[in-house]
Amino acid sequence: MPTCQNCSTTWTMKETMKSSSVLGIRMTCPHCGAAQYVSKQTRKNFSLAVFFVMLLNLLIPFGISPWYVFGSYLVFFPFLFYTYYKHMKLSNEEEPLF
Ligand SMILES: [Zn+2]
Repeated sequence: MPTCQNCSTTWTMKETMKSSSVLGIRMTCPHCGAAQYVSKQTRKNFSLAVFFVMLLNLLIPFGISPWYVFGSYLVFFPFLFYTYYKHMKLSNEEEPLF
């Protein structure tokens, strides 16, 4: 679970989900109120994971029904977000991706 780099408190899953937004990487610590940012490595790993799940689209031209592919997204994306929150690392400063 993510640990605040300002007060060293480890966030619960509920707090992490509440603090994060779909857009943007800025989060506010529920304990000390400091701004925290999702680390560069976490964002890189998550983007890579989403990319690999998206590769499933490539199966459609090979005769796999699109419904199977979309159905598998329903399984993969909740799992992805769960692991994203679970292994998220925080930083005090915004780290540019590139
Ligand atoms: Zn804090």
